[in-house]
Amino acid sequence: MSSKKTVPYRINLPEELIPKQWYNIRADMKELPDPMLNPGTMKPITSPDELAPIFCYELAKQELDNETRYIDIPEEILNFYKMCRPSPLIRAYCLEKKLGTPAKIYYKFEGNNTSGSHKLNSAIAQAYYAKAQGITHLTTETGAGQWGTALSMACAYLGIDLTVYMVKGSYMQKPFRKSVINTFGANIIPSPSDTTNAGRAILAEMPDTTGSLGCAISEAVEKAVTSENCRYVLGSVLNQVLLHQSIIGLESKAAMEMYDEYPDIIIGCAGGGSNLGGLIAPFMKDKLDGVKNPYFIAVEPASCPSLTRGKYAYDFCDTGKVTPLAKMYTLGCGFIPAANHAGGLRYHGMSPVISKLYHDGYIDEARSYVQTDVFEAAVEFSRAEGILPAPESSHAIRAAIDEALKCKETGEEKTILFGLTGTGYFDMTAYESFHNKTMIDYVPTDAELEEAFSKLPEIK
Ligand SMILES: *Cc1c(COP(=O)(O)O)cnc(C)c1O
Repeated sequence: MSSKKTVPYRINLPEELIPKQWYNIRADMKELPDPMLNPGTMKPITSPDELAPIFCYELAKQELDNETRYIDIPEEILNFYKMCRPSPLIRAYCLEKKLGTPAKIYYKFEGNNTSGSHKLNSAIAQAYYAKAQGITHLTTETGAGQWGTALSMACAYLGIDLTVYMVKGSYMQKPFRKSVINTFGANIIPSPSDTTNAGRAILAEMPDTTGSLGCAISEAVEKAVTSENCRYVLGSVLNQVLLHQSIIGLESKAAMEMYDEYPDIIIGCAGGGSNLGGLIAPFMKDKLDGVKNPYFIAVEPASCPSLTRGKYAYDFCDTGKVTPLAKMYTLGCGFIPAANHAGGLRYHGMSPVISKLYHDGYIDEARSYVQTDVFEAAVEFSRAEGILPAPESSHAIRAAIDEALKCKETGEEKTILFGLTGTGYFDMTAYESFHNKTMIDYVPTDAELEEAFSKLPEIK
């Protein structure tokens, strides 16, 4: 019916199409994820009051809100978003040509802000609600460093103090992360540290450990609940974070609709599940409503394979077992990924929403790649599209290229959309090890996984 307009390299969303609300996928899920459990009582958490000692109140409400489909984005956050959003939706003409594929490839690029990733979308929201509540100090953990950087930017903007516990391994691999976070005025501590009971306990057991996200979370939570007027914030996994990240999918969908495009395949990398959850949200709504049937692929590293090899079970969100329990795909909260794993995405668990959608078959596929295959895709992509991708994002690139190559074989003109979550400027040590062929692929053995599974909490 419509005469199709030529899709430009970058689609710029006009002002009137910029989303003013976040979309809450839980309102449309056929079955909800199982409720979080209070670690003290092992009973479901039903009131935001139970979360209030750890989280800001409004965020605790969003965490438990399974009904409100659309939530207004406060004006101050909309204004902040204007500094770096809408993020571009790019048609990968150059990559398509290089691959010789009939597939149409689109990617949503979230790396155009100084923090370098999509994390800023939720960082500003969480800092905003903290400030509105009169909180003066926030704590958090960061793995590869993007979340800590994003949150330090948001806290600087709103005038909130911030302490970041950074996984020690990454802290040593990426020294300039510290400088950036310090520039934005936050305090950064390598974890495990001797500043918390949780950190001291882990150090006593494993003095040489390079740390894990789970243990940095324990430290940040402890610091929050033992400090005055302080709360803890988390950059992924939680329902509230997926809610804020829905801006990615809403913008993508609006931009594609301008050109009568709709993706057949949607691909996202999966660490804690927030960018994937945000990217797929409005498209998943179409699937849940029976309107469309896009094929969803979650991509994770073979070294931290929570969806592809984990168990769907209740587990703690942290190593120190102080956080609520969530029903999710998990490798066990004691799982510590290999130190030589460069690509981020190292969390032991997975967002309960993503876990449930995958368990129930709405996310069609999860796949994992070893890191040398991921970096190969990163290099190929960078040479075609002129963007240096983050290793995390490159998991999605790998899958997108593989799907496009399948189309080349079959001649199918599929439309592929993937999330390019960030840039890789702080990952040059990893790129270097890929170039000089010292990068090692590590895949945990079944025995190693069984060991971590054996420590999963028993929940009746
Ligand atoms: C944090 C991060 C991820 C993974 O986190 P999710 O919560 O799974 O989205 C992916 N890419 C980049 C660039 C990141 O910073």
